[in-house]
Parts: sequence; structure tokens; C-alpha cells
Amino acid sequence: MTFNTDLKFAQKLDQEDPLSHFRSKFHIPEKSDKEVIYLCGNSLGLQPKTVRNYIEQELADWEKLGVEGHFEGKRPWINYHKLSKPGLSKLLGASTKEVVTMGSLTENLHLLLDAFYRPGKKKNKILIEKMAFPSDFYAISSQLQRYGYDHSHLLELKPDQKHNFSTGYIINTIREHRDELALVLLPGVQYLSGQLFDIHAISDAAQQEEVLIGFDLAHAIGNVPLQLHDHQVDFATWCSYKYLNSGPGGISGIFVHEKHLGNDQQLKGWWGHDPGSRFKMDNRWIASEGVDAWQLSNPNILASAAHLASLEIFDEAGILNLRSKSIRMTSYLEYLIKESEISDQIRIITPINPDERGAQLSLMIENANPEMIRKLSEKGVILDYREPKVIRVAPAPLYNTFLEVWYFVDILTHILKTS
Ligand SMILES: *Cc1c(COP(=O)(O)O)cnc(C)c1O
Repeated sequence: MTFNTDLKFAQKLDQEDPLSHFRSKFHIPEKSDKEVIYLCGNSLGLQPKTVRNYIEQELADWEKLGVEGHFEGKRPWINYHKLSKPGLSKLLGASTKEVVTMGSLTENLHLLLDAFYRPGKKKNKILIEKMAFPSDFYAISSQLQRYGYDHSHLLELKPDQKHNFSTGYIINTIREHRDELALVLLPGVQYLSGQLFDIHAISDAAQQEEVLIGFDLAHAIGNVPLQLHDHQVDFATWCSYKYLNSGPGGISGIFVHEKHLGNDQQLKGWWGHDPGSRFKMDNRWIASEGVDAWQLSNPNILASAAHLASLEIFDEAGILNLRSKSIRMTSYLEYLIKESEISDQIRIITPINPDERGAQLSLMIENANPEMIRKLSEKGVILDYREPKVIRVAPAPLYNTFLEVWYFVDILTHILKTS
């Protein structure tokens, strides 16, 4: 698609956008009575207006029914975790047996690693990427420590292309180290650079080399379409408060590939016990169906309610439609930056190929600092700053407009020219 830099052109893109009406389903934060330009959905997604009703329903059931809400509420709490399965399955490309909402991302990473990292005599190392999110690094380190290993058992892949990783390089590394690798953990979309990894090709290679592979989908779910089942991913987890708009600290979830279900390798809690006999309380654990057996506790219903409200919107919009708008929007952002007067001050560290990125562009700016973020915020632009000198800009196709992208580049140009 060819773009131009006119403001009118941004308005035209919005008029032609078949998803433009979804914006009205969200609360857009305001400053001085003016809607902000919110480009931070990769950090905390905005609130769907329906969230309040969903949560109020559970508050009302709790208020009126007390404990009986477990069975007699409008959406009985006893089966609440099942309600998110259809929506999540579509976003993840998984069967409903393979996905369940539970806990938080870092907790779930620990649970999954506990089950999947079973070091052998020779195959006992873990491969991650050098720029991995600290929580992922800590989770892996804790697991190594449990087995008495130090970081010599950690292979940290350095980017081979400045800030990014080529697929061939990742695959070659897995091949080269196959005899010592037990497990690979990679992001679906890298949080800092915004690179989208080729989950299909990398998982194929890991499977061929008999190395287990898991993905942290914090920045991928709700951002790009996923095919976890067909791509033979062994396990995955995510959080729901970024592109999934399910609220701060929202409920997470896990995916375990069908081929691993039923082998009883996971840590156990009462909520994973088959609901038919769970309340016999006889300490004889019988597995629930599929990945439901991995549940430990009864889930947070208020957080799950917000999650349901959000999944309903994704279902209505369709992840493929969202992705095609997202590609157009991010390309437009890239185009405007390159055409701007400040293009020589900005290095886009996100891959230029739309197939290798999601909604986010990471801009490395020589004199970027938290003060610049404050100036942007004063002008009504909300986004974030990450060391080293990176601002992350994430136009979310559910609620951002092309006009906002245009104004963002205009405001950034002004700030960089006058600072
Ligand atoms: C956002 C994010 C987290 C956050 O972890 P929580 O357990 O939800 O606090 C972890 N890892 C990655 C890669 C993230 O992007």
C-alpha cells in the first residue's frame, strides 16, 4: 500500500477502516478533557466498556448468593475457567483441551518449567535469548539452581543482526547444541525490539532435534495470530493485560500441547482434580480433562470476568482482521517516521519486514530519556521508555486510529526539534 504524509490521508485511512467502530467499545483515558493518544497497549491495554458489567455481574452474584454463586450464579464460578476456552483457543490456534486460564505469567512459567525441564545426564542445558525479560531469566535461573546448576547450563543467544535474531541462526544454534539442550524458551514477540519470532520454523527444528520448546507469549497473544497446536509448540504462557486488555494484573493462562496431556508430570492442586470427585476430599487425585488438570487453585473470578469481556471483543473483531489492520497501521507509522524531519535521529530497531513484527515499533533515539516521555505525556501521548534509549510505540488495532499515528509523529518531531 502506498501512503502519503498528508493529514487528510490519515483521515481517509480511518474512514476506510472496517474496524474503526471498535474504538467506541473502549474507555480512552483523558487529560485536560482531551482523549490521550494511547500507544502503550503493549504494556497495559485499555479497558473495554463491557468489563464493568461483567465484573458487576459477579459482584451481584456474590452479594445475593454468597457461596451458592459457585453453582447458581449467572455464570457459575465452578466452571468459570471453561468460559474463556473458545476465545483463547482461537487466539492461540489450540484446542480447548490445550488451554486454560490461571494464575499469573511468572508463576505459570515456573509451573511449566518445573514440569518440562527434566535435565538428563547430557541433555541438561536451557537456551534463551540474551535480551530475555528479567522475569523469564529469573524463572529459568531458579530452575537451574534447583538442580544445582549454575549459569554454565544456560545458553544465552546473542542477536546476530544488531537487535534481532535471524531464524536460521536460531535453528542452527539448536542443531549445534542438540546433544546438551533439554529445553528452549523464547518469546513470541520480543518485548524490547518488537521482533516476531518464526514460531513454526523454530518449533519444527526443536522437534527434529528432540529439544522441548516453550514460548512466552506476553507480547504475542492478541497481537499476532498463533497456531500453537499445528506448530507443535510444547508449552506456552502469557499475560492478559497487554494486548488482551483484561486489566492490571489480569489472569494469565497456559497452553500444553495435546501430546503432553495426561502424563501426570505437573505440580498438582485441588482445582486440577476431576470436578466429579473433587469434593470427596479423599486425597486420591484424579485428573481433570486435558490441561485443566494443571490448575492449582480456584481462579480469581473478578479478573476472569474482565478477561471474558475482552475476549468477546476479540471474537467479534477476529484476530486475522485485527492483524491486517495492525500491519497497515504499523507500516504507516514506519513510513511517517522515515518521511519526517527527525528521521536521521531515529533508528527503528524492530524488523522492517511486517512478517517479523507485531504492532510495536521500537525507536532508538540518541537523546531519548524519561524526560522525553514526560514531554510526550504533557502533549497527550502515552507510551513508554526502556533502557537503552528505546521508546516503544504500539498502535493497537482495536482502539488506535491512523490520525493518532499521524499526530504522534508530528508531536515527536516537534519535541525532538526543540530539545
Ligand atoms: C509483561 C511480561 C512479563 C510480566 O510478568 P508477570 O508475571 O505478568 O508480572 C513477563 N515476561 C514477559 C516477556 C513480559 O513481556
